[in-house]
Amino acid sequence: MRTCVGCRKRELAGELLRVVAVDGRLVVDERRRLPGRGAWLHPGPDCLAKAERKRAFPRALRAPGALDAAGLHEHAAFAADNGSGMFSGPRETRKQVDPS
Ligand SMILES: [Zn+2]
Repeated sequence: MRTCVGCRKRELAGELLRVVAVDGRLVVDERRRLPGRGAWLHPGPDCLAKAERKRAFPRALRAPGALDAAGLHEHAAFAADNGSGMFSGPRETRKQVDPS
């Protein structure tokens, strides 16, 4: 079980994405193999926004300074209709099945 750094709910690790900091930038650790500390997060814009608001990433990752979350916002798992994260329309929300 892992705790989402956004909503703080405990969840099976398979339900969460692992986020790590690389050179001060937050990236999704797709294969869960990158070294170092990881922060766990539900996919979707809501928990990402919560985590940022709480500055949960620097804390979870023991980063000395601010971390650039731009890479997360660009990641498909966290994609939102920019502006309102409340509305989830009939967008493509398929999980990535491409093994490459
Ligand atoms: Zn969450």
